[in-house]
Amino acid sequence: MSPTHHPTEELLRAYALGSGEQALDLAVAAHGARCPVCQVQVQELEAIGGALLSRLPSGGLPAWALEAALARLDEAPPAERARPEAPSWLRHLDLPGPLLDLCDQLAPWSTIWPGIRRIELPLSLDGERLALVGMDAGTEIPEHDHGGLELNLVLAGGFDDVQERAAYLPGDVSCKEPGQVHTVQVHGDGECVVLVVRSGRLVPRNLKGRLGAWITGM
Ligand SMILES: [Zn+2]
Repeated sequence: MSPTHHPTEELLRAYALGSGEQALDLAVAAHGARCPVCQVQVQELEAIGGALLSRLPSGGLPAWALEAALARLDEAPPAERARPEAPSWLRHLDLPGPLLDLCDQLAPWSTIWPGIRRIELPLSLDGERLALVGMDAGTEIPEHDHGGLELNLVLAGGFDDVQERAAYLPGDVSCKEPGQVHTVQVHGDGECVVLVVRSGRLVPRNLKGRLGAWITGM
């Protein structure tokens, strides 16, 4: 089934124009690997970017756009290299290609709270490491706000966003910004694994949440 929750237009545009943060681009690429809708949108955005570039008089481009465009033109076509195989502790997951590419750098799970485990990725956003987070069936992440952007890409299983009354399933992306409070309830039928990209720490809303945030370092 194709994903129904997509990255924001702003994230897709930054990815297509090559002006995005590497950490956010990874999440967009990992989502895009499973999402025909976003693949088309990215292709269209790339075409628009190319058309604009060809029409603008030299000097009419903002410096960042010119730099990004030139950098992309200079990029050699990606060399064909064999994708590393997922380590044994991740082999049950059908990881998208952009994440498989990092698999030879990943340590085993470490448990951070009963029923919650984490693997840090060799990438960060504003000093916050990206991570794979695995949660047992039925786990609840208590109501919390966000100190910055929080992007969760579901890799396996699913969760409900209680306030949104929406279900997130494999391939879906949840984007939250400061002021957007939510509670995450993992579905009861199996573990849920998400790629978590965040630029700020969680801001717990109550004692239970504070305790959880302190313990998990989330
Ligand atoms: Zn999409």
